[in-house]
Amino acid sequence: MKKVVVLGSTGSIGTQTLEVIRNNDDMLVRAIAAGSNIDMLEKQVEEFKPELVCVYDADKALELEKRLKGKYSTKVVSGMEGMTECATISDSDIVVAAVVGMIGIRPVIEAIKAGKDIAFANKETLVTAGHIIMPMIEKYGVKLLPVDSEHAAIFQCLNGENKKDVDKILLTASGGPFRGKTRSELKDIQVEDALKHPNWSMGRKITIDSSTMVNKGLEVIEAKWLFGISVDDIQVVVQPQSIIHSMVQFKDGAVMAQMGAPDMRLPIQLALTYPERLTCPVDALDLLSCGPLSFSKPDVTSFPCLQLARDCAQAGGTACPVMNGANEEAVAMFLRDEIGFYDIHRLVAGAVEQGPFIASPTLEQ
Ligand code: NDP
Ligand code: MG
Repeated sequence: MKKVVVLGSTGSIGTQTLEVIRNNDDMLVRAIAAGSNIDMLEKQVEEFKPELVCVYDADKALELEKRLKGKYSTKVVSGMEGMTECATISDSDIVVAAVVGMIGIRPVIEAIKAGKDIAFANKETLVTAGHIIMPMIEKYGVKLLPVDSEHAAIFQCLNGENKKDVDKILLTASGGPFRGKTRSELKDIQVEDALKHPNWSMGRKITIDSSTMVNKGLEVIEAKWLFGISVDDIQVVVQPQSIIHSMVQFKDGAVMAQMGAPDMRLPIQLALTYPERLTCPVDALDLLSCGPLSFSKPDVTSFPCLQLARDCAQAGGTACPVMNGANEEAVAMFLRDEIGFYDIHRLVAGAVEQGPFIASPTLEQ
């Protein structure tokens, strides 16, 4: 029996994780956590009967506690302390890190210290604190299993291979909803347009990140940490159909690719069952009906956030945490209609330029 904790259980990855668990009799949910969506948390408690539920918002936690009283024995906790309690709960095997944003750093660190394996979706945590987290994975001997589809693909392509034989990683990108558009066509775009991703249905923050292509930049940094490869050896390739989830090119020129339907339940399930593969209720990929696959270079003029993130990865130190933090705030402002599309890049670049530089920042810094 695989005993799972889901941090971010009400989100896109969180709900798909629970769907995977629902379809697998030998998995159970020990704890769930979310920000404030207590209506959905209440339903999840009813169905999965976890021992612990965390609502980050303390007032909402009190309300959920009232609703559950007398019906379920599930304990309700809140705040960062509550998230940590979920992440470290006894008798659990794996923590699915699926909150959005670098708020996930502390619970992930505490889960690792408690010896839990991590199914990792929450890329902002690795972008910000990869230099702290990766050595801990080694030290505590836990597994870090990528959920992000590209990284799950690279992980599979590297399986059984020798790292010294890798020439480069070919990180695929769909190009987002605005692929092929020029800067002048994009400067006045609206939030609703940016929220329409052609291939994936995801949370609002990552959908905006995909439209600016900062998401691909965050993924370059994520790949650097997960696979210990230099940023120079990670090439972004636009593959608009999202059928090839990423590739690895080896020294002899061979390229290994992982393909599949664009459905996050596939990498989520693999992270939960690895090294086993189980059947999954997702339509199998049919190469004869998915149309031709095409490849092109990313357009860093229309999507300058991609290059900015790469530059931050090269600079190291506080550049990535500052870039990520500024991006989280700028995207929130864009979603509130307070700034325009290219203001996201302007604000993030400004923050990186002005931010103090610390070569190896501690968690507090
Ligand atoms: P969503 O916005 O759909 O969900 C975010 C989750 O985080 C929700 O459960 C939300 O709770 C919770 N949350 C937000 N703030 C807090 C907080 N302060 N404390 C506790 N929980 C909090 O995001 P996604 O599922 O799309 O993305 C999650 C992560 O996975 C991101 O890092 C994203 O980059 C990554 N990812 C997502 C993919 C996808 O297909 N969606 C693909 C690859 C990676 P509430 O609902 O209560 O606000
Ligand atoms: Mg991805």
